[in-house]
Amino acid sequence: MLGFVKTAQELPEKRLASDRRQDFDEIYRAYAADKVKEQANRCSQCGVPFCQIHCPLQNNIPDWLKLTAEGRLQEAWELSSATNTFPEICGRICPQDRLCEGNCVIEQSGHGTVTIGSIEKYLTDTAWEQGWVVAQPPKTERPETIGIIGSGPAGLAAAEQLRRQGFGVDVYDRYDRIGGLLIYGIPNFKLEKDIVERRGQWLRDHGIRFQLNTMIGRDIHFSELQQKHDAVLIATGVYKARPLDIPGIDLAGVVPALDFLTASNRAGLGDMAMIDKNLNAQGKKIVVIGGGDTAMDCVRTAIRQGATSVRCLYRRDRANMPGSQREVSHAEEEGVIFEWMMTPTSITGKKRVEQVEAQKMRLGAADRARRRIPEAVPGETTAFAADMVITALGFDAEDLPSLFDCPALPVTPHGTIAVHPASMMTELDGVFAAGDIVRGASLVVWGIRDGRDAATAITQHLNKSRDHTNPVKKGATK
Ligand code: FAD
Ligand code: SF4
Ligand code: SF4
Repeated sequence: MLGFVKTAQELPEKRLASDRRQDFDEIYRAYAADKVKEQANRCSQCGVPFCQIHCPLQNNIPDWLKLTAEGRLQEAWELSSATNTFPEICGRICPQDRLCEGNCVIEQSGHGTVTIGSIEKYLTDTAWEQGWVVAQPPKTERPETIGIIGSGPAGLAAAEQLRRQGFGVDVYDRYDRIGGLLIYGIPNFKLEKDIVERRGQWLRDHGIRFQLNTMIGRDIHFSELQQKHDAVLIATGVYKARPLDIPGIDLAGVVPALDFLTASNRAGLGDMAMIDKNLNAQGKKIVVIGGGDTAMDCVRTAIRQGATSVRCLYRRDRANMPGSQREVSHAEEEGVIFEWMMTPTSITGKKRVEQVEAQKMRLGAADRARRRIPEAVPGETTAFAADMVITALGFDAEDLPSLFDCPALPVTPHGTIAVHPASMMTELDGVFAAGDIVRGASLVVWGIRDGRDAATAITQHLNKSRDHTNPVKKGATK
């Protein structure tokens, strides 16, 4: 170990931007076997591993790096998958620069982080190739069943952990496929869909039952689930697009980010021969409004669809944007133009959108969260020609108490579900919640963490009920 002294950081080969623009394939190739060992060997095996502390799953990173460096790949994979339900997914799409890798001491000391995410991806891809990843249905079945609403990372991570305990697990989703935003939000060039689909099959092989095309609150009443199951987990994510309240927002050609991305993902999955022309960027001048990960996915999708130009308007500067800096670099390489410190003031056009008028901003005093507030620079306005405008300003929770016809379901002022932080249970007995619907729009890795924690909490809750129903009688013999 300590190889960082002699060995420079090397990421897996990144495809040329000119090639990437032509297709929706992932942008990094796999590591060669000798390279992964060499890169894992750069780790200095810190006594206090900041990488691990900053991984939401507290993955045992130094240990699996050491095993990888020694060529003990199966053991390394077993360790990495002990704390993570979908390590190959996290290895691909965690914003590592803000989590494990951004806090690696080697990064902090200027040597370039250990490439933790790429190694994690390599280990699990190898495990699939080698047939190490197999479903492990429980040895004994328990009589209780759990109903999970939502098959995104939170719902799926919980389902896997609960099934391990022997519970019957039924997952309900309004979509026709398993995966939530993994399948219909995140584009293929970040996460190829067969990777999600093979996990879906793996979960079915565990004996988890999926009821798709089923919207709770419309097709099945929420109270039916409460009656049918011993516990219910709400893991529905957040889908209400934040509105942009400016003149012209209703013009034809202004589309919400998720409609645009879902159509593109559906086309990639073969659901449609052609994308609806209103959701297709081909041959158009595109303006994307927003600076988060969703905006980055939109600009890069538009480039791949063959847009003639793609601009991203964001009201703060590059250093203060919420999206991953790595994603911004990829987008720039692929030809996206960033208009920093720019906020839209109106969208104009006769029948359809023709241009976006924008106001130049500067960063003023910091707010309570110590983020500097953007303020207008008087007299500095610009107009950008646009055939299509994509709004990507983030997501809020849908009104679940109304949808579920359950006014007693407790929500926070933001509309997310209020749970007790330790038990993850709501005020309703046996009703739990996890993932974005509790945190607000977050990350896949946090969804996995919450799903796993919720599974532990549900197991404890049901164990308590079981012990209460069947108390061990004093003096009873086994
Ligand atoms: P979701 O993944 O949203 O899953 C919720 C599921 O519940 C969905 O399948 C939905 O159909 C279902 N559902 C909702 N309501 C009902 C109902 N009433 N009945 C039945 N089913 C219902 N995170 C990262 O870590 N890295 C990234 O690169 C990244 N990129 C992103 C890109 C985009 C475009 C978006 C929108 C998000 C991105 N995220 C990323 C965030 C990440 O996808 C989410 O934080 C994560 O998916 C949340 O998981 P979840 O299980 O809580 O919800
Ligand atoms: Fe890093 Fe994400 Fe893997 Fe944790 S799960 S080690 S944060 S890539
Ligand atoms: Fe290795 Fe970096 Fe983690 Fe230290 S912080 S254990 S060097 S990966």
